[in-house]
Amino acid sequence: MSRKLFLQLSDWVLSTDPRQRLRIMRSLMAAFAYFACIGLMVYCSWAGFMSNADTWRVSVATIINLAFWYGMLRSGLNLRFKDPSLTLPQVLSGLTIAIVAYAVTGPIHGSTLIFLALVMVFGIFALQSRTAKIVGASTVLVMSGTIVYKSATDPFHYPLSLEIAHFILIISVIPTLSALAAQLNNLHKRLETQRSELAQALARIQVLATRDELTGLINRRHMMEVLNQHQKRLDRSGHHDFYLALLDVDHFKRINDTHGHSVGDDVLHRFAQVLESALRDTDIVARWGGEEFLLLLNDTTADVANIAIERARTALAQTPLLPNLPDLKITFSAGLTGYLDGELLHTCIERADKALYRAKKQGRNCTVIDDPDNEEPGPSP
Ligand code: GH3
Ligand code: MG
Ligand code: MG
Repeated sequence: MSRKLFLQLSDWVLSTDPRQRLRIMRSLMAAFAYFACIGLMVYCSWAGFMSNADTWRVSVATIINLAFWYGMLRSGLNLRFKDPSLTLPQVLSGLTIAIVAYAVTGPIHGSTLIFLALVMVFGIFALQSRTAKIVGASTVLVMSGTIVYKSATDPFHYPLSLEIAHFILIISVIPTLSALAAQLNNLHKRLETQRSELAQALARIQVLATRDELTGLINRRHMMEVLNQHQKRLDRSGHHDFYLALLDVDHFKRINDTHGHSVGDDVLHRFAQVLESALRDTDIVARWGGEEFLLLLNDTTADVANIAIERARTALAQTPLLPNLPDLKITFSAGLTGYLDGELLHTCIERADKALYRAKKQGRNCTVIDDPDNEEPGPSP
């Protein structure tokens, strides 16, 4: 059989959903134990230890049981239940079959105890520890009843002396398996907790690596990644119509000197908020360093990009920055430039920086546009 055909067949039998696949595989693994149980009963019937009718009945019940759980899992009906693995009902039906096999296999019924233990082992990986304990206790109870009944009704094949030995075996093995289930369950829970803690830590690390802590904006390193990706994407489409603007708060040192560093921090935080709310969702603002911010203005022209910056300037003039210092106002200078096809990002940023420098020289609180399509850069408005 070719590999492709084998893969197709396994997809068809086990489903393509990885979670469902795991559940079905677990159920089919148990099927081996069931078929071994059927094999044992066929042997018992052939050797004359049990009746043909009992062999048929239990074998058919076992196969129906198997087919039923496979059908439930493969059809996806299991997903409607709280535990989609259907572990408890599968374990209970398996235990029932093992107990029935114990009751009908006559002189070699002792060997069916292995199946009983096997079903419990399958269950312990998935059952909650409380449920595993209840299942263990119920199994001991039902098995005790079966032992009493069989030694009373069929003492030839189920002599009391042998049944006492079986009983001792059951009450020592089944509670041990239940205890193991509890331990595995705790281990599972601890692993789950560790996994979720790890996921939280990873998310936190990602935030720390990409965001600026003070303003919540993306940081310089991440902005470079964003710009690189943006450039690559546009390289493919062939349209590089984005602009970069470098903004620097005017005379920011004075705010620190007059009101203290922590007020300076609050001002930077508020400035970032005002900027973000004044720009379009598709534009990206990053804290470039200190009191400098880099804007990526997408899919635009120099005029429209400049209008966006002026919108931010007006918003900044109108918005009280700090409630306890209502008169505190700040302005910013900006250098705006468009990206030229094929140039390095670094070159474009440098051009924006030079334009910003000119804006500072021209008296601050203004924008200098270095439009690559326009030879004459000039202040605005
Ligand atoms: P200019 O108009 O020429 O830009 O003047 P300026 O005072 O804004 O520029 P300068 O470069 O002289 O000073 C920038 C100040 O920004 C100095 C530095 O202490 C302050 N600064 C940088 N980062 C932070 C920060 O995270 N928090 C605070 N509070 N201040 C900062
Ligand atoms: Mg400054
Ligand atoms: Mg500066």
